[in-house]
This record gives sequence, C-alpha cells and structure tokens, in this order.
Amino acid sequence: MIIMKKDATREEVDNVIEEVKKYGLRADVSKGESLTIIGLVGDERNVPFSHLAVLPGVKEARMIETPYKLISREYSEAFQDREESRVIHVGNVEIGGETPAYIAGPCAIESKAQLFRIAEEVKKAGANILRGGIFKPRSSAHSFQGLGAKGDEEAREALSWLRDAGRQFEMPVITEVRGETQVDLIAEYVDILQIGARNMYDQDLLGTIARKSKPVFYKRHFGASVEEFLSFSEYIAVEGNKDIILCERGVLPIGKGKNFTRYTLDLAAVPVMQKETYLPVMVDPSHATGRRDLIYSMSCSAMAAGASGLAIEVHYNPAEAWVDAAQAITGYELKEIIDACNRIHAITAKQNKKVKAGK
Ligand code: PEP
Ligand code: MN
Repeated sequence: MIIMKKDATREEVDNVIEEVKKYGLRADVSKGESLTIIGLVGDERNVPFSHLAVLPGVKEARMIETPYKLISREYSEAFQDREESRVIHVGNVEIGGETPAYIAGPCAIESKAQLFRIAEEVKKAGANILRGGIFKPRSSAHSFQGLGAKGDEEAREALSWLRDAGRQFEMPVITEVRGETQVDLIAEYVDILQIGARNMYDQDLLGTIARKSKPVFYKRHFGASVEEFLSFSEYIAVEGNKDIILCERGVLPIGKGKNFTRYTLDLAAVPVMQKETYLPVMVDPSHATGRRDLIYSMSCSAMAAGASGLAIEVHYNPAEAWVDAAQAITGYELKEIIDACNRIHAITAKQNKKVKAGK
C-alpha cells in the first residue's frame, strides 16, 4: 500500500502507478477526502517498498499481508475514518447506510402475475429491494431450474418482468447469476448481481461479474471460513469494483443425527466481517434455516448482531411456492419482521458502529 502526501500532484500519483507496473503489479487507486491511496494488486513480495517510499509525493509505502487487503478496514483507514463503512447506492436505496436494507421476493419467479403480486406485497411490508430467481441452483437435475433454464427468450421475458416490477413498485432488483454465460444478459436487466453460495469459489465468474461495475451481492459458501470468504471477495475488488455486499446465509450443520435447520446461521460472522472489512454485511435467514417459523427470530437476531439488512424469501401462498416452500413467509409476516428489525436497529446501531470500528 502506498499513501500519497496530502499535496501530491496528479503527475506524482501517475508516476507511482507507472513504477508499480514495472514490478508486474497493478494499482488500485482510492481517493479519500485528503489522501490518495494506491493499493498494489499482485504479488508484493518482490516490491522494493524502500524505493517506492522515497518517490516524489509519497508519504508512506508498506506491505499489507492480508489476502483481502483492498476490502480490509486496515487499508481503508488510510483514506477514510475508521468508523466509516462503505455505503452502496442502488437507485434510492442505501446499503450499509443509516437504515437497514430489506431484500425480499420469491425464491423463484413462477409467472408474471406471481411476481407482481409478491412485489406489491413486499413493497407494502417495507422492503426496498426486489429479488426473484430466474436461474436457480438446484440439488436435483430433475427439479424446476428457474424460467431462465427454458431458453433465451424465456429468460429475457422473466428478466423483463423483474425489471418492470421493480420500476412499478420503485425498488431496485436483484437476481442470481449462476454462470459466466449469463452475465451479459442479466446485467442488461437488473441493478444488483447475485453470486450464489455454490459459486462463491468461482474466480472467473467473480471477475466477469465484477467488471459489469454493478453492485454485487455475494453469498458465503456453506463450507467456507470467514477468511476464505473475504479472500475470494478480493477477486471482485481487484477488478476495481468495491460495491460488494457480503451475505451470511449459514454454514453446514455439524454432528450426527437429525439437524433441525437447513444450515447453521453464523451470526458472529456478521460483526467479525464488519471489523475486518468496510463492506456491508447482510443476512439471509431463509436459506440459513430453511424454516418459516424461524425467520422472525433469526431476522431479529441478525439485526441485533449489526447486519446492514436482510434478504428474505416471500410468497403469497408459501406452501405452494415452486421452490423453497418450507422457508417462504407471507408479506404480512415480512411486515412484522421489518417493523421489529427497524426498532432493534434503532436500539443497537450506535453500539454496533463502535464494534465495527474496533472500539
Ligand atoms: C438464493 O438466494 O436464491 C439462493 C439459492 O441462495 P444460496 O446461494 O445462499 O443457497
Ligand atoms: Mn431459495
């Protein structure tokens, strides 16, 4: 990491970038209110920091050893206040800002009528971002794979419903991109690109999605440690896209015998990731539990743990949802959750901000 002096000129910054390139690395430039920081992308081991430190305009040059340096709070401290976190703007919605963000909608889009009815209900409940799966990751090749799997025309049709429902009910929209071949198509229609838990490790997909320069909703794999999750997030950041929303959605349950939840919601990961990085962390209680009777309690707990928001699956007739019926809740239940979570946020936000800043 290279910290430029307050009065460093544009030429001095460019000169440092050129110098960095000589060692086979790329530069990630972040401008704060007063300082400019140049992050090094690549293997720093052979970089002569003592040489870089004496270039004109350079205040400090040092190695950052963490595998997720560009998203780390340590790095961001040089260009922003320790207490500050990244606020991601999508339409009128802020993620990581003063108020929680709520993503809600069906697990899978089943029809235009289904989507519009759910969109209306979640909007009334207080949600501010609309979700709807079009390319579904499924454990069985024989189950419904999402309308997008039927062909390009069907995919475009479902994507246009999602875009139009978002416009009608004034919510930005999000859907999962399951493979590289879908990136261009989906990016034409949606505001936020989702990377599902199963694809957390797909470096090529991460890079291709990142280069669309749209916010990325990035879900933790159910077998990934926090360190791995953050290290792979860096594949998005090195493309110059730091609009990354981390999502905790549960890890594999341990032990023998019956497990009562689909996954184990790792709530401690929320403040841990917020201390390690400046990125917003959201929680998905739907996939974490797989049970509609637990969504209220896990949502409230996630909010108390400092989550920047929640992602929840909703259906007007949960039992009849084509995918993930057991975890879907109604719009009315969503409203109860959002009301409770807004109150919890009002009580805990101040303290949680201090936790993030390590105070
Ligand atoms: C989803 O959000 O639609 C989904 C499939 O979640 P996950 O990738 O966390 O399983
Ligand atoms: Mn689902």
